[in-house]
Amino acid sequence: MSLTGKTALVTGGSRGIGAAIARRLAAEGATVAITYAGNTAAADATVAAIEQAGGTAFAFQADAADPASQRAGVDQAAAALGGIDILVHNAGVATFATIAEDSDAIFDRQFDVNVKGLHVGTRAALPHLTDGGRIILIGSISGEMAFPATTVYSATKAAVAALARGWAKDLAPRNILVNTVQPGPIDTDLNPADGEFAAQMLSAIPLGRYGRVEEIAGAVAFLAGPDASYITGTTLTIDGGVTA
Ligand code: NDP
Repeated sequence: MSLTGKTALVTGGSRGIGAAIARRLAAEGATVAITYAGNTAAADATVAAIEQAGGTAFAFQADAADPASQRAGVDQAAAALGGIDILVHNAGVATFATIAEDSDAIFDRQFDVNVKGLHVGTRAALPHLTDGGRIILIGSISGEMAFPATTVYSATKAAVAALARGWAKDLAPRNILVNTVQPGPIDTDLNPADGEFAAQMLSAIPLGRYGRVEEIAGAVAFLAGPDASYITGTTLTIDGGVTA
C-alpha cells in the first residue's frame, strides 16, 4: 500500500469520481475525510464502504460554493485527520446552457463551486498541509476543448488547470506538488453512460466506451503516491482518446 500513514481530504467524495477516489486512497492505506454538498446518505455509504474494507474515514457537509462552509469543512477534516497530506479538489457542477440561455446565476454557480471553492479550500488547507504533500485538482477535458452548451463549465475547468500550474510554483518551496487530472466522459450521475448525450459522446471516444470512476481514482492514487515525486504543475488527461 503506497499511502500507509497518510491523510487525505477529498471534496465531493459522496458520489461518483470523488467517492471512487476516497475508496482508492483508503485502499492504499490513507485515512480519508470527504466533504459533500447535501447527500448525507451517499456520504455515509462511502464512509461505510471504506470502513468495511478495513479503512478509516470521516464525512463533513461543506458547500464548496460557500466560503465559510468550505473553510469549516477543511478545518473539521484537518482536525479529524490530524493534518492533511493529500488534498483532492473533486467537487464540481456542470449546467448545460448555450450563450443565449446562459445567465449570471448559472455562471456564478459554476465558478463558485468549480473555481472559487478550490481557491478558498486550498487557502484554508495550507496551514494544515504537510510539507511534501500533494494537491490534486479534478479538471476536465472541457478545459481544453469545447462541447455544445457547456462554455462556462469549460471556462471553469480551464481555470482549474491554471490554478494548478500557479500553485505548483507557489508551493514548490514546500515541496507540495500540485497537478490536475482531466477526465473525459466518465459514467456518473453527472454524465451517465446511458444519458441524453451519451450516443453523441460515444461516437467521439476512440476507445468506444465511457470511462469508469476507478480509472480516474487510479491516476489520483498515482499522483498522490511516491512514484509521482517529480511531477508538479502538469495535467494528466484520461479520456479514452477523445482529445488525441
Ligand atoms: P457527480 O455529480 O456524480 O458527483 C458530484 C460530487 O460532488 C458529489 O459528491 C456532490 O455531493 C459533490 N458536490 C457537488 N456540488 C458540491 C458543492 N457545492 N460542495 C461540495 N460538494 C459538492 O459528479 P462526477 O463524479 O461526475 O464529477 C466529479 C468531478 O469530476 C467534477 O469536478 C466534474 O466536473 C469532474 N468531471 C467529471 C466528468 C464526467 O464525465 N463525469 C468529466 C470531466 C470532469 P452530494 O452527493 O452531496 O451532492
